[in-house]
Amino acid sequence: MSRQCPIAVNGREYQWPRRPVVVTCLDGSSFEYLFHAAAAGVAPFLRSLLKNGFVRAAESAIPSFTNPNNLSIVTGVPPSRHGIAGNFFLDRETNRAVMMNDPCFLRADTIPAAFARAGAKVVIITAKEKLRRLLSAGLDGLCVSAENEGQPVYSSILSEHVLRRGAELMASTAPDLMYLSTSDYVQHLFPPGSSEANQFYAAIDEQLAHLDRSGATLVITADHGMSAKTDPDGRPRIIFLQQLLDAWLGTGNTRVILPITDPYVAHHGSLGSFACIYLEDRSLTAEIVPRLSSLPGLDLVLEHDIACRQFELPEDRTGDIIVCANHETVLGTHPHEHDLSVLRSPLRSHGGLAEREVPILFNRRIRLPSQVKRFKNYDAFWFALNCADDKSDSVRLAGSGEGKGPGDDHLIRQQLGYYRARAPEYDQWFLRQGRYDRGPKHRAEWFNEIAAIESTLSPIVAGKEVLELACGTGLWTEVLAKSCKRILAVDAAPEMLSINERRFQSHKVEYYVADVFSWKPTIIADVVFFSFWLSHVPPTRFEEFWYTVFCALKPGGVAFFIDSLFEPTSTAVDHAQINNSGVVRRKLNDGREFEIVKMFYEPSALQHRLIESGWKGWVRSSGKFFLYGLMTRPETSESSSPSHQQRESADS
Ligand SMILES: [Zn+2]
Repeated sequence: MSRQCPIAVNGREYQWPRRPVVVTCLDGSSFEYLFHAAAAGVAPFLRSLLKNGFVRAAESAIPSFTNPNNLSIVTGVPPSRHGIAGNFFLDRETNRAVMMNDPCFLRADTIPAAFARAGAKVVIITAKEKLRRLLSAGLDGLCVSAENEGQPVYSSILSEHVLRRGAELMASTAPDLMYLSTSDYVQHLFPPGSSEANQFYAAIDEQLAHLDRSGATLVITADHGMSAKTDPDGRPRIIFLQQLLDAWLGTGNTRVILPITDPYVAHHGSLGSFACIYLEDRSLTAEIVPRLSSLPGLDLVLEHDIACRQFELPEDRTGDIIVCANHETVLGTHPHEHDLSVLRSPLRSHGGLAEREVPILFNRRIRLPSQVKRFKNYDAFWFALNCADDKSDSVRLAGSGEGKGPGDDHLIRQQLGYYRARAPEYDQWFLRQGRYDRGPKHRAEWFNEIAAIESTLSPIVAGKEVLELACGTGLWTEVLAKSCKRILAVDAAPEMLSINERRFQSHKVEYYVADVFSWKPTIIADVVFFSFWLSHVPPTRFEEFWYTVFCALKPGGVAFFIDSLFEPTSTAVDHAQINNSGVVRRKLNDGREFEIVKMFYEPSALQHRLIESGWKGWVRSSGKFFLYGLMTRPETSESSSPSHQQRESADS
């Protein structure tokens, strides 16, 4: 590969690749799919990228559909520039819905085509034929679809074939630039974490690892996410827009176009979360927009000009009004135009704002220019060609150490035994009763500090999805439930969970028995909360525990925690004086004794340690008894890298 000048494409400049560059668009892959597969242990390569790679949440183009995003990625510009804003638009001249899957509708050059013209060896492999035609526009290079190579369209094999072919070609012919784009067949059918989804990502992971080993700079992103568009019984939530508008305004006055419509109906029955409305009389806009906006189930109703500006849409291929349905709702035209019998499972679809966030992962270090503030999936080639540190090794080589805390299994078992046996009397400690009663003054101080922490916590969890680790008897679950949206409360002790469940009845709380030390998060939350738990995590498992928290958080999500300060009067009157050894003896009301882990952290030292490993936030003292902290998830977790763990073990 000779060193050449940068190539300008659609007003952006791209450096000539010094090593092969592979951009992969994993159709319909939200972070949740990757996290689940990584946490389940079936996708070791993705896991190593999530841990050690450069990982960001990126915005996809709206509508969050396949073609607008694939074309944005290969052109490096939004739909306003390249013209592909969905599968269909309404031609106002002829009043006919026009399908935009022919290259003649594409208004921009593609990055692969431009590099091929400059002499680069370029390969594009995609799942379906409809997309291949668009992607091959102007391309002098190999552009194939798995569908055309005889793979079944309604199968996971279609996507696996794309990546396998890519990996084979990379090994045999080492193209300079490669674009691989899969199908979202699996994601339409199966939610993140399902065995089918994990199995799919396991197969994908293997091929991605091959590509990585070939020495290429590898970018993995997606065209859109995917949401369950159903009510709790699994029935699709559909707003039939045309039917509604006809009822409001009479037939013939409006025309609803669903840009998701395509020949592959079994995926979604032409039901997505984005629609365009075209009006006979545009002055109706002022009447329709507010009327639609008041409907439940819609995230956004915008008139043409605002929509085009806000989402960078092509003016002549965007309706007079655009509508985005929310995360659990799709938009249809008329009931008789959607054959729901084609759906093979509860409807999962995309198109709206809820499916806009996608992951973007790099297997190399990225040197970010300071002007970059927001990440778009269509910057994938730009980052790979201009910002990747191509002299560095793949981050996979940074290792995927699965270090375990050595030698503390016995202590952990004893601790759990104590904790389970203590369930019925646990609250006495918190409520300062029985052996913990140290008088009214002490109790007042204790509860003042609790109240201060509570007032900090409440706004943080308001409206949020919360994962509570080691939730215990529910003293804090109840506080969380007052303002949060939903809680998954996890605890290793069923005895604790049943007390928690009886304490207050809330439909918001779901309970799950699992040992936090070995549990791999099965949900991705806005907030991970744990109280009086970190002090029971052995120092050898500190990094691993925080990695679990990292995996359970959405990008930008926060951990909130509360724990004990080193304060002798916190413990029972008949307990031995507390010490800083990390292990204390605890007694139950019946006299049984146990040794458990109890680490006392000094707030500023704990804060420093977490910030060192990439978390951002603070840890404070509430006065005498407690520390509490708020930490924002790092972009990537290096906190459990092997070097860290070795240092950790050596220290302790
Ligand atoms: Zn897609």
